[in-house]
Amino acid sequence: MAFDLAQVPDELRARGLRVTAPRLAVFQAVAQTPGHPDVETIADRARAQLGSLSTQAVYDTLRALTAAGVLRRVEPAGSPARFEARVGDNHHHVVCRACGRAEDVDCTVGQAPCLTPSDANGFAVDEAEVTFWGVCPECQAVARS
Ligand SMILES: [Zn+2]
Ligand SMILES: [Zn+2]
Repeated sequence: MAFDLAQVPDELRARGLRVTAPRLAVFQAVAQTPGHPDVETIADRARAQLGSLSTQAVYDTLRALTAAGVLRRVEPAGSPARFEARVGDNHHHVVCRACGRAEDVDCTVGQAPCLTPSDANGFAVDEAEVTFWGVCPECQAVARS
């Protein structure tokens, strides 16, 4: 999905967030880094743009942007939290067991919940998040050589 970064300030305001340089830098770092970057990668990129930014500020900013629905937090089991700017479309992820790389998998239905449990125990289900696990092309090539 392509982003028009010029629209990001309006997007933040529309979701009730003040527009600050760290928020813009963190959002941009997530939106322009393919493969669902982790906090460390986001911090490096945001710092490259801003000059300095504490790790705590990066965490706080990610929390605010995620809570406002501007970013999505993805947390595959056993992997550090990752972030992405593709929100609101109920897509899923495929994660490499070897290197941890995560890519998007489009939701076949396009809206939540796209899977129906055989027995939801009386719960009103509104979301299903699927993680597919496997080995990415690069790691397959390494294993072959
Ligand atoms: Zn891999
Ligand atoms: Zn994704």
